[in-house]
Parts: sequence; C-alpha cells; structure tokens
Amino acid sequence: MTVGRYAPSPTGGMHLGNARTALLAWLHTRALAGRHILRFEDLDTGRVRGWAYDTTRRDLEWLGLDWDEEHLQSERLELYADAVARLDTYPCTCTRREIEAAIQDSAGAPHGAEAVYPGLCRGKAGRRADPSRPAALRWQVPDQTVCATDLLTGQPLCQHLPTEVGDLVLRRNDGVFAYHLAVVVDDAAMKVTDVLRGVDLWTATPRQIALQGALGYPQPRYLHVPLMTDYAGERLAKRGGAPPVMALRERGEDAGQVLSALAHSLGQGFWPQPLPPEVSLDELLSLWRQKLTPLLL
Ligand code: GLU
Ligand code: ZN
Repeated sequence: MTVGRYAPSPTGGMHLGNARTALLAWLHTRALAGRHILRFEDLDTGRVRGWAYDTTRRDLEWLGLDWDEEHLQSERLELYADAVARLDTYPCTCTRREIEAAIQDSAGAPHGAEAVYPGLCRGKAGRRADPSRPAALRWQVPDQTVCATDLLTGQPLCQHLPTEVGDLVLRRNDGVFAYHLAVVVDDAAMKVTDVLRGVDLWTATPRQIALQGALGYPQPRYLHVPLMTDYAGERLAKRGGAPPVMALRERGEDAGQVLSALAHSLGQGFWPQPLPPEVSLDELLSLWRQKLTPLLL
C-alpha cells in the first residue's frame, strides 16, 4: 500500500506555498488509495511556535486535506538516538568560522558549490575536537557516489558523498537531531513509500538515500514539486510576508476557490489536461491519476 506524508515544520502557520505542497502530497496519496500521514517536524525547539500545530491542522481541514495518522518528531527522540548509535560518527567542535577558513585554505573548493565540511575532526578518534566545547556528531560518510531519481521529472542526481556532501551533522552541538537523520528514520518507521515535497529538498535526496542505505532501510519513491514564487520570482517564505492560509480562512474566503487557485498556480503545463476555471478535489484526484499513469509504467 502507498503511504505518503506531509511534513510541515511548525515554525509558523502555513502560507499558500505550503498549502500547495500539502495539496499535492494529499492528492498523490489519495490518488493511489494510500494512507496519509501528517508529521510535524518540530525538533528545532527554538524555532517552533506552539500555536502553529493547531493552526496547521485547521488550515488542512479547511482545505479538505485529511490524514490518517499524526506524529510529532519531538516525541520520537529515542528512535533518532538509536539510529545515530548505529552509524559511524565522530565528535566535531569546529565553529562555522574554522570550517570556512579551512575551506578557503584548501585551493580545491569548487566555486559556487555548497560548502562541504572538510573533515577536520575526522579520524584518530576526533583528535581535533576540543573537549571544552560542546560537540556535534558527524557521520563519516562512505566513499560512494549515490544517485537519486525523481519520479515526476525522471531526472537523476548523483553526488559523491565525501566531496559533494561531506560528513553530515546528525546531532547538533545543542543536542538537536538533524533534519536529514530524523526524516530518514521516520520515513522508514512510518513505512512511507512515496515522498512528495518541495523541490528545495531535491539536492538533499542523495544524502538521505545514503543514510537509508547505511541504516538498512528501504528507499521510498521521490516526487519533487515546484515551490510557489512571488511576482519577482522569489520563493514564498514565512518570514517574507507570504499570505497565511489562516488569514484567508478567518476572513471567510471560499476554501474551494483557494484550492482551485493553488492548482491553477502550477500552470497549465503541469496538468495532463486544461483545468476548468473552478476545479474540485475530485477532479484534481483524477487529473493526478492521469499524470501518474505513464510514470508508473
Ligand atoms: N519539514 C520539511 C519542510 O518543512 C519537509 C521535509 C520533507 O518533506 O522531507 O520543508
Ligand atoms: Zn570539526
């Protein structure tokens, strides 16, 4: 059976971009008659807003996007600790500045690429880790190239772990488990088969697949969808004043019209057929099924 999920971070209410991703995740699970999970990714307690859980639930309900199971990552810390204990890790006390300086010193840093931790504390039992500072735990990535394929685009993405990803932080020096670890542990524990999420996480997919491999977990299918942007082409962000769903709801807007607008905002090319001006959830389900059919062959 298909198991899908929507995994918001309760750092604020949902904005329209979040709602569009939530809609697509729901359509995907329901189009395949699967089980849908709502998972709050609330490990970074400093950024969590207590009111955001309920607002998110109400926003989803208002839009008609239901779910069968709900989980909070903050209640699952033991699972993450167990997974970290099974991986090859070492303590790291490097500051951001020390890491940047080391990258600049090594002439080989590819221009414009994501900064890769140069392994300063790797090996010899973390010889450089400073015992007077709180340590993060890094995963000593294997010398492998890992590839991901996206079901929607058919695009592959391969990354060489040591040079393009680097040794990942699994637990920060304040004790918070890292997103990549938690997401992989939870997707496996919740038997998620299909991960539909924003394209901003596409380049993180190979490292998540690498963690799945190291932990002996099965690999889900991945579907990455475009992020909503504003008129200047900037992606919507909670901080940037993106329209909150809560405001539309409280103002008495029509949820059906909002859903319809979200579907239209993806552009006609996204859908296998032209959308009617007002499109219902049932019509969207059948369109999503049509879109998937050739991809699942
Ligand atoms: N919690 C992540 C976010 O809010 C999504 C994680 C995922 O779907 O893998 O962007
Ligand atoms: Zn270090």
